[in-house]
Amino acid sequence: MGDPKGFLKIGRKPVPKRPVEERLNDYRYVYKGFPEEELKEQAARCMDCGVPFCNVGCPLGNLIPDWNDLVYKEHWKQAIDRLHATNNFPEFTGMLCPAPCEAACVLAINDDPVTIKEIELQIINRAFEEGWVVPKPPPPEIRTGKKVAVVGSGPAGLAAAQQLNWAGHTVTVFEKSDRIGGLLMYGIPDFKIEKWVVERRVGIMKQEGIEFRPNTHVGYDITAEELQRDHDAVVLAVGALAGRDLPVPGRELDGIHLAMDYLGQQNRRVAGLPVEEAEITAKGKNVIILGGGDTSADCLGNANREGCASVRVITHGPKPPDSPDPLEWPDWPFVLHTYPAHEEGGEREFSVGVKGFSGSGGRVEKINLVETERTEDGKTLHKEGTEFEMDADLVLLAIGFTGPVRDRLLEDLNLDFGERGAIASPEGFATSVPGVFVAGDARLGADLIVTAIAEGRKAARQVDQHLMGRSLLPG
Ligand SMILES: Cc1cc2nc3c(=O)[nH]c(=O)nc-3n(C[C@H](O)[C@H](O)[C@H](O)COP(=O)(O)OP(=O)(O)OC[C@H]3O[C@@H](n4cnc5c(N)ncnc54)[C@H](O)[C@@H]3O)c2cc1C
Ligand code: SF4
Repeated sequence: MGDPKGFLKIGRKPVPKRPVEERLNDYRYVYKGFPEEELKEQAARCMDCGVPFCNVGCPLGNLIPDWNDLVYKEHWKQAIDRLHATNNFPEFTGMLCPAPCEAACVLAINDDPVTIKEIELQIINRAFEEGWVVPKPPPPEIRTGKKVAVVGSGPAGLAAAQQLNWAGHTVTVFEKSDRIGGLLMYGIPDFKIEKWVVERRVGIMKQEGIEFRPNTHVGYDITAEELQRDHDAVVLAVGALAGRDLPVPGRELDGIHLAMDYLGQQNRRVAGLPVEEAEITAKGKNVIILGGGDTSADCLGNANREGCASVRVITHGPKPPDSPDPLEWPDWPFVLHTYPAHEEGGEREFSVGVKGFSGSGGRVEKINLVETERTEDGKTLHKEGTEFEMDADLVLLAIGFTGPVRDRLLEDLNLDFGERGAIASPEGFATSVPGVFVAGDARLGADLIVTAIAEGRKAARQVDQHLMGRSLLPG
């Protein structure tokens, strides 16, 4: 522990952000980070409490107290080595993770937790600046001659690919989109992660010997049979991208879209790439976003940057409490999550349900709403007689996902599916089809970057064991 009394003397500081007026005019990363001295102070707040719940709260098992101490002592090289030991991509989690570790920090019992996520980000940023993050191709003599196909290039697929390549297998990553990264590339906005960050990591992985095949929709461009014939094992990391729809009257009107269709187009516009489908834009429009999670906040940030006329975020459940119930520690608390996007404009409405949409000329003009109430058994009911409407030129459905898209690949593999629509894996990460494994959102249902990376690592270990009879990979 750097400073045994640090937590008594130093308070948690919020990570500085760029001013709202500035960031609304661009799509660059929102946070500015701490100057080095302040970061060291924040690291000194770690109590090294002996039973690091943060370490268990992190799905990757990141060795948090170790690197807090190393940052305090300015041993940055050791800090990144300790961080990379458990996390392939700390720059992704450092920017995007909701930090369940911080909810589990022992200091959070009666104070504010250590700023773990920001310390993680600044360790990896420093490592890139110093030139310490370099490709580590496996030595030729450990090449096993086994071929593994990873389908999907999101964080789960990337983590599985890197681990399996390091174990000596020949790995090809197939991706149906034109760019590698899964939701990191198409879905999550640039103001949360600029895309050069993803490309930098993919570049390193290419130099390590992994082959990437974008624009390859497995099941169509390559059949499931060919994939299995040409590889010794297959990892499905296809995500859970089937968006939940809202079957209410008027849903067929133009101007009502699944959030992902809008977010993907925004990523393309920001990158200066052409959009092939009919354009979905918030510019000058009265925008309604349905749903209150990450996807909704990402739509909000984009709509404000595009210059919408107005934007409202509507959630059918009641407003969560502002601060956690202390009895919830060390679990992820049920609280109102406020993201930087919520500071940038727009209204948030809670306990509002949707009855339908109306419009003219085939286009949506109004959303028909009703107040809701939550019953004791957790059901959300419409309160009759409280109907009202709002203007709506663009409606974005950000109300969740129902599991992996059931495309031809999944059909032809004849897989089993679980209750949440995810691909079933009766034994760890192995599906019901021999030699076919699954990791990430495709196995868990829509989740987080950190869990996807953890899944990719663990699945890689099981694949390695399947191919070699044993594995030295962690996981
Ligand atoms: C809008 C949005 C914002 C989010 N923000 C955050 C956040 O801030 N923090 C956080 O922790 N989590 C966030 N999440 C969740 C997080 O992005 C996901 O949990 C994570 O990306 C899942 O990783 P994955 O590798 O399992 O799948 P994905 O990232 O979904 O990648 C799956 C990939 O598989 C490809 N694919 C599918 N089928 C095929 C096929 N047949 N052939 C070839 N390729 C195929 C897809 O094109 C896709 O690129 C967000 C999710 C969304 C939707
Ligand atoms: S990956 Fe997420 S949970 Fe793990 S240490 Fe980093 S911020 Fe915390």
